Amino acid sequence: MAHETADIVIIGGGIMGMSIAHQVARRSSLSIIVLDKGAGLGEGSTGGSSAITRQRYTRAENVRIARDGNVIWRNWSHYTGLADPVGRFHDIGVLWMMHDSEDQVAYDRNRLVAEGVDAVQIDGDDLARMYPGVSACMVPFDLTGEIEHECADGNAFLVERDTGFFDATGALLDVATAAKAGGVTVRLRSEVVDVISTGSRVTGVRLQDGGVIDAGLVINAAGPWCNRINAMAGLEVSWPLVPTRIQVIYRALPADVPRPIPVICDAAGGIYFRPEAGDGQII
Ligand SMILES: Cc1cc2nc3c(=O)[nH]c(=O)nc-3n(C[C@H](O)[C@H](O)[C@H](O)COP(=O)(O)OP(=O)(O)OC[C@H]3O[C@@H](n4cnc5c(N)ncnc54)[C@H](O)[C@@H]3O)c2cc1C
Repeated sequence: MAHETADIVIIGGGIMGMSIAHQVARRSSLSIIVLDKGAGLGEGSTGGSSAITRQRYTRAENVRIARDGNVIWRNWSHYTGLADPVGRFHDIGVLWMMHDSEDQVAYDRNRLVAEGVDAVQIDGDDLARMYPGVSACMVPFDLTGEIEHECADGNAFLVERDTGFFDATGALLDVATAAKAGGVTVRLRSEVVDVISTGSRVTGVRLQDGGVIDAGLVINAAGPWCNRINAMAGLEVSWPLVPTRIQVIYRALPADVPRPIPVICDAAGGIYFRPEAGDGQII
């Protein structure tokens, strides 16, 4: 079985692992191997992500991270160093329809603007003008059909005008291309089945095919599977993280619905939706 050595082994070739590889490669000449158990890139969360780049988070730190992320999405070619990247930023706006009072929306709008986000508060008239295809009704539909729907319009909404969504798989492919150009080795179908330690120090990984890679540093970027890697390393502390399936559906947008439709976070329906290729929507 192969026995190799690398300065850094990264377990997981999703957007996190690949971004770490890219960033370290840009700043050093360390040898880096990214290992992923998938047969192709993006078989974890990244490939299924809606990749909405909203900045309205509760904690200021998260607002700032998302805001700075948007700078990267907007300057993707520069960030990746690729003249013609696959991924595209769709800054079509994010509309929040959340049962908020006018005061609540104003509070959040001010909080976001203070962090440099281009957020505006709109009312029902603004909504009709900006997005004529979007109903202001905040009453959820009764999907059983037993209760007749009676509209009750909301009048306080928030729009983040400077963001939207990014192509998730495109982003991953681009970062992988950039990382490889920087000398990173990316291996698919390479499942890590054990983390090797010497004393209290992690010194490498064992692969399903029996191969071993000794490494000065092993980085756990296994996303929802990270606790399995922690357990392999004998770590008792695990993240309170439970992989959970959620459903995403694709619907064609009816031709008679006036455009544009932004990314919409819809508290009435308990859903979010955004445009997807082919003039459809993912929900
Ligand atoms: C349906 C859905 C919608 C989402 N929507 C949004 C959104 O709108 N906006 C947003 O910001 N975020 C969204 N997210 C979250 C976002 O996609 C994730 O936070 C992000 O993709 C996590 O990236 P990651 O690299 O940490 O994990 P992953 O992409 O899951 O990568 C982990 C990788 O580790 C590999 N791996 C695991 N175990 C091993 C092993 N033993 N050996 C080798 N490889 C291994 C897996 O194959 C996988 O490729 C969404 C997620 C989902 C699932």
